[in-house]
Amino acid sequence: MKIAVIGGGIVGSLIARELTRYEADVLLFEKEADIGWGVTKANSAIVHGCFHETPGTKRASFCVEGNRLYEALSRDLDVPFKRIGAYVVALCDDEIPILEELYEQGLQNGVPGLEIHDRETVLSREPHLNPSVIAGLWSPSVGITEPWALAIAAVENAVNNGLDLHTAEAVTSINVMDGHVKGIITEKGEYKVDAIVNAAGLFADRVADMAGLPSQVIFPRRGEYALLDKKGGSIVSSVIFPTPNTISKGTLVVPTVDGGILLGPTAEDLDREAKDATETTDHGVHEAIEGARRLVPGLDLSLVVKTFAGLRPETPNKQFVIGSTEVNEFFQAAGMRSPGLTAAPAVAQFLVHDVMAQDLSLDERRNFDPIRHGIRRVFDLAGKDADALIKSDPRYGRVICQCNHVTEGEIVEAIHRGARTLDGVKFRTRAGFGRCQGGFCTDKILMILARELGLSPKDITLRGVESVMLSRKVRP
Ligand SMILES: Cc1cc2nc3c(=O)[nH]c(=O)nc-3n(C[C@H](O)[C@H](O)[C@H](O)COP(=O)(O)OP(=O)(O)OC[C@H]3O[C@@H](n4cnc5c(N)ncnc54)[C@H](O)[C@@H]3O)c2cc1C
Repeated sequence: MKIAVIGGGIVGSLIARELTRYEADVLLFEKEADIGWGVTKANSAIVHGCFHETPGTKRASFCVEGNRLYEALSRDLDVPFKRIGAYVVALCDDEIPILEELYEQGLQNGVPGLEIHDRETVLSREPHLNPSVIAGLWSPSVGITEPWALAIAAVENAVNNGLDLHTAEAVTSINVMDGHVKGIITEKGEYKVDAIVNAAGLFADRVADMAGLPSQVIFPRRGEYALLDKKGGSIVSSVIFPTPNTISKGTLVVPTVDGGILLGPTAEDLDREAKDATETTDHGVHEAIEGARRLVPGLDLSLVVKTFAGLRPETPNKQFVIGSTEVNEFFQAAGMRSPGLTAAPAVAQFLVHDVMAQDLSLDERRNFDPIRHGIRRVFDLAGKDADALIKSDPRYGRVICQCNHVTEGEIVEAIHRGARTLDGVKFRTRAGFGRCQGGFCTDKILMILARELGLSPKDITLRGVESVMLSRKVRP
């Protein structure tokens, strides 16, 4: 049995990993040069508590179960996950009933530990909040993670369990005969496959079209952000939400796992075809910052190191599209809007174990290994362990990214694990993610990539074709 997964975002990566628990040849096709570069790359990175979700919906149940699974999954795959909790804050009397509604909704969804705190308690725990705060809904199960790192780790683990990974290979058509899946055609070749999973994120409607399914609509909803340097990281210790509006959970203040602070996102519906419109706008970034400042007025904006935007894959009825379809052996995990990151582990388990394994009569393998070890970060090691590592390989003693303390040894390890581009190194090691945003280390990382890959520096790109770094000499 040959099964192709289309899309190496968080959803497709976790599905591919679950599939490698079974006796099947699993292939993963990703159109980008690396894993996790679609919607998974640019979002709030919150493992939601799930009190925002309407009780009784798939989103609510997958969200609660996904949140529960994060601890063990992150431990198995050696990926950062911190359960730091969250406050939804009411800044005026009119917002109190909204907190109560979210609390009730959370109870119905089975969210653990919810409490409504008075002003004094909220301010004693988050002293930098707007002093006008009246009350806060506390949700201790909310966590933060590194979504792209989890996707990369899941694929690394899946490859160790037999996954056949095809990056930089877009699927261009699907062969269906007499209502059954027969094969897949990519920009590089043709593959006979027995089943397909559509986990193509924003592009899942186009992939569904390829299989001849009645039209699905997935349109982008842009969310813009500003990221603050680690120096500003201690201003809050939990995720701070405003009360939600009719379109989104609002503009937030979110600690990141590496100690920074994220402000945003906005929510702007775009044309269905604008699936690459990740540019930021003046008004969007302004709205993200002002929304965050309403919650935490003392944010130091001189610490903004980056602005960026992500696109939520929205469906008209706001529901996830998960399961089998009218085309035999064609399965979907599409329309994965927020809280898709939170829900992804539960969605992958449901689709693979409860749907595909039954429909395709898959047998479990005995030798699946769930454990993957992350790249050792010298600065996270105890002194004597760091010394020993540097002694065994002096490249771990050479710091390349000064902002995030990333050594040459870590960069080389990332390349040996599959990084082929500057972004590939950045998303595996955080080199270039810090205050200078690569200003002082890009050239060094580029030369290390060229050396390790045996390529000319001119062949090293930022993120694959069309992102050439060195086009010509400036001096003869
Ligand atoms: C602004 C914003 C904030 C969010 N915040 C949160 C949050 O805090 N918590 C939360 O739980 N969720 C959040 N989400 C939602 C979450 O990010 C998504 O649900 C999740 O990342 C979707 O993952 P995916 O794998 O479905 O999509 P993607 O990550 O987009 O993966 C799909 C992949 O398919 C590939 N692909 C597409 N077409 C083809 C093709 N033809 N051939 C091969 N490959 C193809 C793409 O390149 C892409 O890599 C947020 C989303 C946004 C945009």
